[in-house]
Amino acid sequence: MISTRPIPVRTTLAEQFEAVLRVHADVARACEPVLDVDAARARIKGGQVAYDALRVLRSCGDLQPRFDRVLEAFEVAGFVSNEDRRAILDGELDIDDLVSGWFTGDRTPRDARRRVARQAAIIVGNALLRTASAMVGAPATWKGWTRIACPCCGGSPDIVLVERATQRTLVCARCDAQWRSRRTGCLGCDSEDRASIARIANPALGYDLVMCNECGRFIKERPRRGLDSLIVERALTAELDLAAEQRGLRI
Ligand SMILES: [Zn+2]
Ligand SMILES: [Zn+2]
Repeated sequence: MISTRPIPVRTTLAEQFEAVLRVHADVARACEPVLDVDAARARIKGGQVAYDALRVLRSCGDLQPRFDRVLEAFEVAGFVSNEDRRAILDGELDIDDLVSGWFTGDRTPRDARRRVARQAAIIVGNALLRTASAMVGAPATWKGWTRIACPCCGGSPDIVLVERATQRTLVCARCDAQWRSRRTGCLGCDSEDRASIARIANPALGYDLVMCNECGRFIKERPRRGLDSLIVERALTAELDLAAEQRGLRI
């Protein structure tokens, strides 16, 4: 008998992303961000963000060849057609603009071609910043960190990993650095008011979308156990971001 059970979306997506993850790992391995590690650690100790993300990104050189490689991997994975990839490379969209837009918290574009180009730019930016943050140190380096902004790059967290029901670890949307949250209520405003915090469970994805109506912040929450590559996790939950953005919320 032919099984009619659907293949889990998580597995399919992880397989589809293989070529992309390889390029991401290559870009991360080969880049050389310029970063004063001692100064960065001293800044964290003083409660300041470790480095200027845009400056560190620029120190890595030309983003275009990396962007081209990610787009090629996207085509292999079936995320972009050959025609669309060529159109993007023909100068329709600029990688530097896309990365800057991502830094300043732009919203997911409605246009499909623009959305895929932004996605590729994010993968490049993430590979470079991830490397820079790994240079800053192990998470023990920012053990005393109490702010909501990422201790390394200053980005906002987009994912919360929950352990033992109460321990919450935040993941930076830009550089993947992880740090412990001391807040029990909303990350943005610390509200514990149940009436203002909406939680929508998505059992199929294994995530809760948590939204605060007080300050307009949202975050995606899941157990730490069974976490895939963050690139796959973010692709898997892109629909949650869209749902939250459509309500006018931000990370
Ligand atoms: Zn960060
Ligand atoms: Zn809030």
